[in-house]
Amino acid sequence: MRKALAERDRRCTWPGCRGEPGHCQGHHETEWVAGGRTDVDQMSLVCTTHHPKLSQGWRLERLPGGGMVAHRPPSQGPEPPPRAAPPGGPRDALAAGHPPRG
Ligand SMILES: [Zn+2]
Repeated sequence: MRKALAERDRRCTWPGCRGEPGHCQGHHETEWVAGGRTDVDQMSLVCTTHHPKLSQGWRLERLPGGGMVAHRPPSQGPEPPPRAAPPGGPRDALAAGHPPRG
């Protein structure tokens, strides 16, 4: 199971996290006590830093394209609007922060 999750997810599925599979655990996307199955298509790889957050009200949602979005606990108030992507995407954003090489 763990090997199959590592093969599919490659790293922690928490948005922005680069946690290696060796530091991750299998997370039931639907809690096991709520009928979630221990199947690869019902689980995701989450690192030991982020996995406890899922027991504190945070929720991961798998997007149709395969990415994940993390939803904060309702007790922390409404979620902030998503950040606008910089024109041209992340590559241009990185380039804008560095002088051109000559
Ligand atoms: Zn993580």
